[in-house]
Amino acid sequence: MTTPSMFESPTHAASTPDLLVVADTVLTMERHSTPLTDAAIAVTDGRITAIGSAAALLATHPDAPTIGGPNHLAIPGLINAHQHLTGDRLIRSMIPDDLEAGRSIFEWAVPAHAAHTGDDDELSATLSLVEAACNGVTFTVEAGTVAHPSRVLAGFDAVGVGGTLGSWGWDVAGQPWAGDTVDQVLDRQREVQRLTSGHERVDGWVTLVGHDLMSDELVAAASDLARAKGTGITFHLSPSDSDTAAYLDRTGKHPAVHLADLGALGSHVLLGHGVHLADDEVERLLDTDTAIAYCPWAYLRLGQGVTRAGRHIEFIDQGGRVAIGCDAENAGDAIDVLGAVALTAGLAKDMAMDPTVFGAHRALHHATLGAAEALGMADEIGSITVGKRADIAIVDTTGPEWVPRSPDPILQLVWASDGRSVSHVVSSGRVVVRDGEPTLVDRTALAVEAQERHRSLVERGHLG
Ligand SMILES: [Zn+2]
Repeated sequence: MTTPSMFESPTHAASTPDLLVVADTVLTMERHSTPLTDAAIAVTDGRITAIGSAAALLATHPDAPTIGGPNHLAIPGLINAHQHLTGDRLIRSMIPDDLEAGRSIFEWAVPAHAAHTGDDDELSATLSLVEAACNGVTFTVEAGTVAHPSRVLAGFDAVGVGGTLGSWGWDVAGQPWAGDTVDQVLDRQREVQRLTSGHERVDGWVTLVGHDLMSDELVAAASDLARAKGTGITFHLSPSDSDTAAYLDRTGKHPAVHLADLGALGSHVLLGHGVHLADDEVERLLDTDTAIAYCPWAYLRLGQGVTRAGRHIEFIDQGGRVAIGCDAENAGDAIDVLGAVALTAGLAKDMAMDPTVFGAHRALHHATLGAAEALGMADEIGSITVGKRADIAIVDTTGPEWVPRSPDPILQLVWASDGRSVSHVVSSGRVVVRDGEPTLVDRTALAVEAQERHRSLVERGHLG
């Protein structure tokens, strides 16, 4: 542990900050950083403007509002790199966990989405993002299945957190929200770009459902659109081995090889999952600098074979960019990135049958700075760094899981605790969770509305 020296943005040095985040331990999660003790983080206009000793910053700015204090640990706001914000939320933990793979998607998830109204979308996104925020998540990548993007954007605004957002993208005849032509699908994505243009916290991304549920023309054109707009694109690929079988049958090539040959991969691409990858696919993903969102709880809940086939740690060790995600409320269910971080570390060790492999420190990197790098946003989020967005999660260390305090706060954070230890959350400089409660939305009113909408959705979608 080190006592912090002062890092300051010269333009804000003199004025009173909007907020001082105070903690007995700060994990900046910058590369090669060590924990700072008795530190404070100054926030002005949504940005981190100084990091230094708590005593010095409190003395310089006696009038600044503060949050945290002794018995608090500050970490960067966590990044959830793959989360469905609609569809599953209102039928949370309702899809049986003993169904064949296709049935859970086509008998449950797709009909639930098809029956979703705009009101359902906004409520679902708000609920999901409240859960995420209360567990320390300040940035969420929507996974590519949104029918009413403006309503999901309203959910982001209601909770006050950031993320990326696209529109439902597939060109599969006879399915809900399908475009008849590639242009129709892409027009919807362009609409989201317009909707999010200039937004402080939410970026428009191009999103496709992916798998083998997209034509070659669509995925190539969608990737080009993201490139042209300077944004990211995300879609699902190979969480189970069924995409491999479908692509081999249709193209004679492994999925990622086929997509690379189409020119659809690149550093702007975040693949959801990539659990079942052949050697030639790992090679092409590394060559094209394509990133992967890794959602280990979903693969366990759905029995998709990550313990046998997953190559994410090998991919990371070869320089691949990986970010951790939580997926959906019927695929891993809990929106708790810290829980997924612990599982990432545990699976890596167990699959290698070697306790020296990976570990809590490396795993946490892939929910913070490493995740930001996978999203192409490392200059903006992922670490507590002067100049970056003031996205900070503050953990209360008075709970039993924190007694006694370990000299290694990352070991204790990852292995002993989870999102429930998070007490306050700052997103773009605004306190969006205080004492475990969202500050901008009424959680009780949301719960009443959710129970009603759940009933209505189950009836309209003929679910269960
Ligand atoms: Zn997904």
